[in-house]
Amino acid sequence: MGKIAVTERVTGHTELIGLIGYPIRHSMSPTMHNEAFKKLGLDYVYVAFEVDNDTLEDTVKGMRAMKVRGFNVTMPNKRKIVQYLDKLSDASALTGSVNTVVNDNGVLTGYITDGIGCMRALADKGVDVKGKKFTIMGTGGAGTAIIVQAALDGAKELSIFNRNDSFIEEAKQTVKKVNEQTNCKATLYMLEDQDKLRAEIASSDILINATCVGMKPLEGQSLITDPTMLHPGLIVHDCVYSPRETKLLSIAKDAGCITMNGLGMMLYQGAAAFKLWTGKDMPTDYIKDILF
Ligand code: NAD
Repeated sequence: MGKIAVTERVTGHTELIGLIGYPIRHSMSPTMHNEAFKKLGLDYVYVAFEVDNDTLEDTVKGMRAMKVRGFNVTMPNKRKIVQYLDKLSDASALTGSVNTVVNDNGVLTGYITDGIGCMRALADKGVDVKGKKFTIMGTGGAGTAIIVQAALDGAKELSIFNRNDSFIEEAKQTVKKVNEQTNCKATLYMLEDQDKLRAEIASSDILINATCVGMKPLEGQSLITDPTMLHPGLIVHDCVYSPRETKLLSIAKDAGCITMNGLGMMLYQGAAAFKLWTGKDMPTDYIKDILF
C-alpha cells in the first residue's frame, strides 16, 4: 500500500517542504501537513530531517540551493537559524526565533507561528485578545512566542512569570522589546512570588501555562495548586497537550474556568505555516479528526 500511495502522490513535479530538528522522529507535523496536502490535492510532500546545530548551516544552504518552498524548524535550531536567513517577520525579530521558513525565489524569510497558533486557538473559543490582560507563566520558546504575538495582536497588559533559572535574562530582553516596540504593557515577575501571581491572575482575563510543568517528567504537577487563585470565567490555556488534561486544567475546570490544552495551538501553528507556503487554508477540522 505504501508503494502505491507514494507513486501516485510523488512525481517529478512534487515540491519538498522540510522539517529540521533533533530529535525529530516523534513529530506529528509530517502527518499533519501530508494529510492536508493530500486533502487539498496540493503537489507537495513534507519530510522530517535530523539536523542539529552542527549541520544547520549546510542544511539551510542546501534548502536554498534545491529551491525548496520552505521548511519548519524545531529544537535545537529555532534561534540559531536566524543568522542564516535573509529576512524575519516582526514576531520572529522580537522573539529572536523561527519555526517556519519560506523561500521566495532564493530569499529566505523566517516566521514564528507558535504564538499565532495560540491566538487562533483562543479565537476558536470566542476570545478576542484585543484589550485583554494575560498572566503568562514561562518564558521559554513557547512563552516568548505567545508574549510577542499577544502584544502584536493588541493585548492590553501581560504579567509574565518565570522562575529564577537560565531563561530569566532573555525574558528581561523580551519584556523590554515588547514595551518599546508595541502598545502593550509587559511586566516580568518571579514565579516564586505567589502573592504577586495570585494578584495578577485575579485581574487577568487569560492565564497561560507555557512551562514544562504538567508534562512528563513533571506530569501530575501544577504551578497552581490552590484553586482560590483562579476565578470562574478565567480562560486557562495550557500549552501542554500530552496529557490532554493536565493537573492545572483539572484544577481550573473545578474552579469554573474555561480550559484549553495545547492541541489547538499545535494545530494552528501548523496551519499558519501551511498558509505561508501554499497560500491555502489548512483543512483544520479534517486534520483534527485525523490527529486528535
Ligand atoms: P523551553 O525549554 O524553551 O522552556 C521551558 C520553560 O519552562 C521555561 O520558562 C522554564 O523556566 C520553565 N520551567 C521548566 N521547568 C520548570 C519548573 N519545574 N517550574 C517552573 N518552571 C519551569 O520549552 P518550550 O518549548 O517553551 O515548551 C514549554 C511547554 O510548552 C512544554 O510543555 C511544551 O510541550 C509546550 N509547547 C507546546 C506547543 C504547542 O504547540 N502546544 C508548542 C511549543 C511548546
